[in-house]
Amino acid sequence: MTNPKYKKKLDDLLVLCQKSLPRVDEALIRRAFDFGFNAHRHDIRASGEPYFDHPYAVAKIVAKEIALDDVSVAAALLHDVAEDTEYQIKDIREEFGSTIAEIVDGVTKISDIFKSHDVTQAESYRKMLLSMVNDIRVMLVKFGDRLHNMRTLEYLPLEKQRRLAKETLDIYAPFAHRFGLANVKWELEDLSFKHLHREAYDQIARDLKSRRREREHYIRKFSQPIEKRLREEGFKFEISGRPKHLYSIYNKMIKRNKPLEEVYDLFAVRIILDTQDPNDCFAVYGTVSDIYIPNPERFKNYISVPKKNGYQSIHTTVVGPE
Ligand code: MN
Repeated sequence: MTNPKYKKKLDDLLVLCQKSLPRVDEALIRRAFDFGFNAHRHDIRASGEPYFDHPYAVAKIVAKEIALDDVSVAAALLHDVAEDTEYQIKDIREEFGSTIAEIVDGVTKISDIFKSHDVTQAESYRKMLLSMVNDIRVMLVKFGDRLHNMRTLEYLPLEKQRRLAKETLDIYAPFAHRFGLANVKWELEDLSFKHLHREAYDQIARDLKSRRREREHYIRKFSQPIEKRLREEGFKFEISGRPKHLYSIYNKMIKRNKPLEEVYDLFAVRIILDTQDPNDCFAVYGTVSDIYIPNPERFKNYISVPKKNGYQSIHTTVVGPE
């Protein structure tokens, strides 16, 4: 029986799964939730919260931000059971079968490696991780686990904060990128940056905030003529502006030795086309170049040559209004 206090949490998770996953075995999620809750019922996190709040948060990340399948969500709910409770992998296998048991086992083994080693050569660790992982869902759950741990890092001792932040920046963030999880990568980088270079992080965050109105106004002004033309040309599309994430701004400032106000690519606009024809992307590039003067040196064609992780798009840098 689900604890009444947690009944709503389970309902929220199920709603999230229904929204973002192709198929949901609700009974499986319920059973994993109850099993995890029961296994962790006596444990407390460093933050003082019930331990189960952690696997629950990881399951939500896996359901919403990684969104592969219900098996990954169930495994996320159980991912710390073998490491931290009286239950073992064989108990999970008996209850949930070998697929979920193997995912949980993989996640547990990855944690063990990092406990016993210091991360010195990031690339060899990434290779080792990959070689250990038979089921890609092990890494997906691990990304969710790391993301939630990074979001709640302030409850750990400073020394440990720094160690985890460095490991995240060196290994997990670039790895998430290769799995095509751009948003996870950005958030991991920004959280690591925050804990490794607190002053620089706070400074950039403050500056960005104080210019936010100005920036949003500018992005609107920039996007309007593009939107108008693309609509006239009959494209189905979404257009959105976003500031780049903090860590990439910081890297640009360092690399070019420039203050924030001179890092021009604070603004990025993304156009997502609803089309089957890659040539439409080039047509839109043509339209944008017609409205704003492009810098040909900054043209990147990931349509003809996709990135290793399968990512395809066109990048261009243009001279905007003013
Ligand atoms: Mn965990």
